[in-house]
Amino acid sequence: MMNRFEEFTTRIVQQVGKKEGPVSPVMVNSASFGYGNSETGEGIFDGSIKKPLYARMGNPTSAQLEQILASIDNGVGAIAASTGMGAVAMATLSLLKAGDEIISVGGLFGGTYSYFSETLVRFGITTHFFDVEEFNAIERAINTATKIIFLESVGNPNMRLPDIRRIAEIANRNGVAFIVDNTITPLSVAPIAMGADMVVYSTTKIISGNASALGGAVIMRAISEGEDKFKGERYNDVHPFIKKMGTMALIANAKKRALRDFGMSANGFGSYITMLGLETLPLRMDRIVATVEKVVKALSENGLQINHPSLTNHPQHERYRTQFANGCGTLFTIDMGSKEKAFEFLNRSKLVTITANIGDSRTLGLHMASTIYRDFDEQTKEFLGITPGLIRISIGLESAEAIIDDFLNAANI
Ligand SMILES: *Cc1c(COP(=O)(O)O)cnc(C)c1O
Repeated sequence: MMNRFEEFTTRIVQQVGKKEGPVSPVMVNSASFGYGNSETGEGIFDGSIKKPLYARMGNPTSAQLEQILASIDNGVGAIAASTGMGAVAMATLSLLKAGDEIISVGGLFGGTYSYFSETLVRFGITTHFFDVEEFNAIERAINTATKIIFLESVGNPNMRLPDIRRIAEIANRNGVAFIVDNTITPLSVAPIAMGADMVVYSTTKIISGNASALGGAVIMRAISEGEDKFKGERYNDVHPFIKKMGTMALIANAKKRALRDFGMSANGFGSYITMLGLETLPLRMDRIVATVEKVVKALSENGLQINHPSLTNHPQHERYRTQFANGCGTLFTIDMGSKEKAFEFLNRSKLVTITANIGDSRTLGLHMASTIYRDFDEQTKEFLGITPGLIRISIGLESAEAIIDDFLNAANI
C-alpha cells in the first residue's frame, strides 16, 4: 500500500497550482461582489446561479481551499472558517438547539472543552464526557436529545487514541451525527472513510504549518440518495435542506444555520496563505511523524516520562499500530514531575519555542497546568490528564538528533 503522504503530495501540489494564468492561487480580498444586473442578483440569492454573493457567505480563494480539503477527506464539500474554534462552532451549531445533548469522547482541546462545558451550557445544551474506552457507557448515554458524538482523533494533550471506527459504528447504528476534529492528523487519518459525517480542522496548526494564518474548516459528507440518518426524526431541522439540496444538504444547512448568522467566515488572504502551507503538508507530516518516533524512543530510553502511543507502555499502542499506521501527528508529552522542573526544562532548551501553538515548522513546547489549563479545577485536570509537571511538545522540522541532544541537555541528562 502506498504511504498516505506519498499519495497526497502529487495530488495537492497539482490542486493548489494552475496550468494556465497565475500559477499561485488567485487571492481575492473583496468583501462584496457586483451582480451586474438584478436578474443575476436574484439567481445568486436563490442558489440557481453559482457566483459569489457576499464574502461572509463565501470567497473565491477560500472556495479553492474548500475544494482541496473536501477532496482530501472524501467530502461532498467543505466550508472554510476564520479559526479552528469557528469551525468547531459551525459544525456543532449547524445541528444544535436548546435541550439537545452532545457526547464527547476522549481528550479535548481546551477551547473546545470550555465551549462545551461553559458556553453551550448557557444555551441549554448539555455535554456528557467519556474516556475513549467507555464504549458501553457511550452507547447507554444516547437518547432522543443526543444530536452529536464528538471526538478528537488524538487526545490533546493526553495522547489517548480513540477507536474511531468503533465509535462511528455506535453513532451510525443509533442514528446520531458523528463529528471528528482531525486537526492533529490531517492526511494520516481519514474520518469520513471511517464513518464520520463531518470533519473539523484548525488549519492554523500543521495545515498552514508556520504560524502565519488563523483558520479552520469543516468538511461534510454527502447525504445518501437512499436511507440516511439525517432523514430521521432527530434531524427534522435538516430536512428542508435535504429536500432542496439533496447530497449537499449538510453544507447548505451549515451555511444558513451557522455561517450566515454567526459569521465565522474565512478571509481570502488567510485562505491563500493556508494553501501555500497545505502544498507542503504531506512532506512535513511524513518527516515529523518519523522524527517524533525517534525522539520519544530516545528520550524514554534515557529515563524521561514520555507519553506517546508509539511506545510499547502506552495503553493504545496496539491501536496506534493498526489504526494509526501513518502516525498520530506532531505531539507528545513529557512529565517532569513538578512545575519547577518543567519550567527549568523549557527555559534551558535552546530549540523549543515556548508558545500555545502546535503543528509548526519549529519545535514548540508549553507547560500545561500554568497556561491553557490554569482555570480548570483539579477534577477536570485529572480527567484531561493534566499533571503538575506536564509539558506538551510539538515536534518541528529540525533534525531528530539535534532535538534529542537539546532535550537531554535541557533535562540535565
Ligand atoms: C488549536 C485547536 C483548535 C482551535 O483552533 P484555532 O484555530 O486556534 O481556533 C481546535 N481543535 C484542536 C484539536 C486544536 O488543536
